[in-house]
Amino acid sequence: MSHHIDDRQHHPLKSSDFVRKYLTGIFLVIGLIVLSVFWSFSYRSKALIEAQLLKQGQAFFEEVIITREWAANHGGVYVKIGPNTVANPYLLKIPGLKVVIKDEDGVAYTLKNPALMTRELSEIADKYGAFKFNITSLNPFNPANQPDSFEQSALTAFTQGKKEYYSFEQQGNEEVFFRYMAPLETMQPCLKCHAQQGYAEGDIRGGISVSLPATTILKQIKENRDYIILIGLGIVGLIFAIIRYVARVFIADLNRAEQQLQEMASHDYLTHLLNRRAGYQRIFEEMQRAERGEKPLVFILFDIDHFKRLNDSYGHTAGDLVLKQLALKLLAALRDYDIACRYGGEEFLVVAPETSVEQGLKLAERLRATIASTHFNIGTQDLSVTVSIGVALLQKKDTIENVISRADTALYQAKNGGRNRVCVAAESAGA
Ligand code: GH3
Ligand code: MG
Ligand code: MG
Repeated sequence: MSHHIDDRQHHPLKSSDFVRKYLTGIFLVIGLIVLSVFWSFSYRSKALIEAQLLKQGQAFFEEVIITREWAANHGGVYVKIGPNTVANPYLLKIPGLKVVIKDEDGVAYTLKNPALMTRELSEIADKYGAFKFNITSLNPFNPANQPDSFEQSALTAFTQGKKEYYSFEQQGNEEVFFRYMAPLETMQPCLKCHAQQGYAEGDIRGGISVSLPATTILKQIKENRDYIILIGLGIVGLIFAIIRYVARVFIADLNRAEQQLQEMASHDYLTHLLNRRAGYQRIFEEMQRAERGEKPLVFILFDIDHFKRLNDSYGHTAGDLVLKQLALKLLAALRDYDIACRYGGEEFLVVAPETSVEQGLKLAERLRATIASTHFNIGTQDLSVTVSIGVALLQKKDTIENVISRADTALYQAKNGGRNRVCVAAESAGA
């Protein structure tokens, strides 16, 4: 039956809305935690790989330094002069230095100083392409050993006390290098040639920069990060789906429970008709609608005749069965938009919208006749009951109490007139 009140509009905050808000909050917090955990994973792995590159740079630097130190300790080495081996012109400017020597057979040898040796080794390394290194100083003999911008920054940092310097550097469009540089200290054997530049032992005289190709590893770092972010998002998505599913199930259960509660709160437990409170809410709405549309609204109040007697003779349970069956009969006899509620113990109120007093009277008469001819089953036998009915038409400016009071007066007249009959309130008849 559709004599059902939708009470939800009277409760602005539904518990399912509350659950939805609550779970949204939980999801946001969990999502944020998961994403930040994965972000820190990603950050950490990048830092680890960078640390690894730094180690490689340091190791490679050391290898270069070892060769240079060996050469410096010996003041450089003499090598045979040949088509590709000529004297270093910068050495010729240093007074007292034997740049070219000859053995007893007249074969000529020239001095390879440590810096030149390092530079020539770096040219070989360059050929293989994997690692590059370069020796440079702020004040080079050879202009070709002038520092580039990275080396310049590094050398400046060394003069301020830094012990190493590194960064990534893009060369051209594609290749990225991890560049590492550490200072070269002036050693005792260096002074033979470099004292004239004003250096003393222990002074920082320049540095060796090494470059490690890092394009691939950086690409892998990026892929790794994307992968971690993807997994993070996947997990957040999964959590979202789980929370959504739980929320759905939970909210569905909650809605069901809420509906049951509303049903219990608005309906009479015995007859399942609207209770008086819920009935009044519907009636108020109909009264407003009737007022707006200037449509007639009829109130029909009825009471079972001698019901106390029935209870006394057949028992209270029998009385209950009669009430239940009477309610079913009543609903079956009404239109969907008529309102029927249990007004009191064995009193019922019907409100019929868009119904004139004549039509209301007819309806009441029909209800009376239907009930009077019904056989109510109380288990062992069938019973008949009658009802007395009062009909009142809603007047302008009527309150619900006024109109029901007039219907009640009419009902009283019906009782006094001998019961099992319908009376219409006097003012209504004239309206
Ligand atoms: P009248 O014709 O004057 O209405 O006589 P009556 O006996 O029906 O008198 P009244 O309306 O005063 O009495 C109503 C009785 O209905 C009293 C009460 O025991 C009974 N009653 C009220 N509610 C219930 C109920 O839920 N179940 C049962 N079995 N009886 C009820
Ligand atoms: Mg009564
Ligand atoms: Mg009665």
